[in-house]
Amino acid sequence: MGARPGIQITGPPLPANTSVSRQPLRLAVFTPDGYTSGMIVLTNTGGVAMTNSFLIADETARQAVLFDAPDHTVAPLLETATARGWELTGLWLTHGHFDHFADHAVVRQKFPGARILLHALDQPKARQPEAQTRLFGLPLVIPPLVADAGLTDNQELKIGSLAVVALHTPGHSPGHVAYYFPQEQLLVGGDLIIGGSIGRTDLPDSDPRQMQASVRRVMSLPGATRLLGGHGQPTTLRQEQEHNLLVQELLA
Ligand SMILES: [Zn+2]
Ligand SMILES: [Zn+2]
Repeated sequence: MGARPGIQITGPPLPANTSVSRQPLRLAVFTPDGYTSGMIVLTNTGGVAMTNSFLIADETARQAVLFDAPDHTVAPLLETATARGWELTGLWLTHGHFDHFADHAVVRQKFPGARILLHALDQPKARQPEAQTRLFGLPLVIPPLVADAGLTDNQELKIGSLAVVALHTPGHSPGHVAYYFPQEQLLVGGDLIIGGSIGRTDLPDSDPRQMQASVRRVMSLPGATRLLGGHGQPTTLRQEQEHNLLVQELLA
């Protein structure tokens, strides 16, 4: 594996014509040692549930994937992809809660070639968003989402030359998936471990026991793994192990 590369969080490098974002786009530039390819991680947070969206690119291959599509949040990320000449090859969803896929049609409209991936167990929720908008009493109209493909546990994916593994991590939602970059030790974690807490397990299709198994599984990855959660600030698994009381409880 060699020396651990560092992540520099710099910002805010908003594209000049951005008017949509209500807050600065944050840029996390990943500079891997020993690789010629550059990994770039951009993030924006927004929507009714303050949900994180991540745009991860292999700058050398000029390919990128968007992880989750909260409402009122994806536009500056998509504008950046266009400005940098990246092909958006996918919208990879962590799960089927409305705040993570609401603006899928915006992504599709701008990048019709982007394949939308969502685990089969969460596809029914995405096909009928009005059930969630009713449940949460939301003033949002979300178009139904039909994913292009499902995901299987340990499925291997690629963004340019970047290797990604889909980890089926049910509990918060039955079709919840985290995306792991083993080479870069980076995890797009969805609503598994978020903001010093864990994702809700009191929803109709949540399962606390599965949640425990999923948290344990993810926490067995290297402690230096950078965790990009669905809500809250970037962290590391080691930080969560040391400070997150709910994670500690589930590991005990
Ligand atoms: Zn969720
Ligand atoms: Zn969420």
